[in-house]
Amino acid sequence: MNASPKLLDGRWLAGVVEREIAQEVKSLAAKYGRAPGLGVILVGANPASQAYVGNKEKIAKRCGLNTFDFRFPEEASFEQVEAAVQAFNNDQKVDGILLQLPLPTQLASRQNVLLDAISPAKDADGLHPENQGLLMRGEGGLRSCTPLGAMKLIDLAYSSVEIGSEAVQFSQIGAADLSGKRAIVIGRSILVGKPLALLLLARNATVTMAHSKSPKLADLTAQADIVIAAVGRPGLVRGGWIKPGAVVIDVGINRTQDGKLTGDVAYDEAAPHCAAITPVPGGVGPMTVVMLVYNTLQAFRIRIKE
Ligand code: NAP
Repeated sequence: MNASPKLLDGRWLAGVVEREIAQEVKSLAAKYGRAPGLGVILVGANPASQAYVGNKEKIAKRCGLNTFDFRFPEEASFEQVEAAVQAFNNDQKVDGILLQLPLPTQLASRQNVLLDAISPAKDADGLHPENQGLLMRGEGGLRSCTPLGAMKLIDLAYSSVEIGSEAVQFSQIGAADLSGKRAIVIGRSILVGKPLALLLLARNATVTMAHSKSPKLADLTAQADIVIAAVGRPGLVRGGWIKPGAVVIDVGINRTQDGKLTGDVAYDEAAPHCAAITPVPGGVGPMTVVMLVYNTLQAFRIRIKE
C-alpha cells in the first residue's frame, strides 16, 4: 500500500501545456502574420455545453489564438449547421473546428454526417473517420482530445518532473515507453475508450478493452499496470481491484445527487494502492480542453507545413 500516491494534477499540467502553446503561437504568428484560428459551432442552450465552449474559447484566447463562432438556437436546421461547417472549412483564418456535442434532438441522428463534413485537416476534436482511420493505421493525423490528454497524464505518471512546479516545461515530460506494461481500458466509446486503447497499443502496452458485457472486470483490472476508467458509472472501479503500484486514469465525470462531480473510480479506496492517480474533477477534464487548442495549433502547423 502506498498511502500517498502521485496526484496527477490535470489543472497544473494543462497550465504547463498552455504556456508552451502560447510561446509557440507567439513565434508562429510573428513569422506567418497570423495566429492559428479556432472555429466553434454551438447549437442550443445546454448549460453544460455553453460552459464547455466558453472555457475552450477562453483558453484558446489566452494562448493567443483567434476564435470564431457560430451560435444557433435550439431549433436550428441541419442545413444551417452544415453551412456553418462549410463556412469554417473554407475560411483560411480557421485551422481547427469544434462542433460542440451533444446536438439537439432533431440533429442527433445526423450528428455523424455533420462531424464527417468537417475537413479532416481542421478536425480539432479528432472525430473524423479519416483521422480515426489514421490512428488505427498508426499514422499521422489529429487525435481525439480526451484520449490525447489522458496519454499526457500517463506520461506524467512515469516522468520524474516535480508536479506543481512553475519551472517545469512540457518538453521535459517525455513519451513514456509502455513496453511490458499491461493496460486495461474500461469503456469502448469512439470518443474515449477505443482511441485510447489504440494510443496505448502504439506505445507498446499490452491492452485489454473491457465494456458492459465483460465478465470478471475486477480480475481483469487487477492484472493491469495502467487502469483507464471511461464508463460514466460513479465508483465502479473499487480499491480492491487495483494492482499495487498501478497508474489510474479516471476519465469518468458523474454528478452526484448533491451536485458534486465524481469519477468512475472509488478514489479514497483506490488511491492507497496506486503509484499515481488522477483526481475528479481536476484530472482528465482540464487536459481535454487544452488538447483542443493543442490540436488547433498542430492543424495550423500542418497547413503551413511548419
Ligand atoms: P459512453 O459512450 O456512454 O460509453 C461508456 C462505455 O462504458 C461503453 O463502452 C459501455 O459499454 C461501458 N460500460 C457501461 N457500463 C459498464 C459497466 N458496468 N462495466 C464496464 N463497462 C461499462 O461514454 P463516453 O463518452 O466514453 O464517456 C465515459 C465517461 O467519461 C463519462 O462519464 C463521460 O462524462 C466522461 N468523459 C469525460 C471527459 C473528460 O474530459 N474528462 C471527456 C469525455 C467523456 P458498452 O459499449 O458495452 O455499452
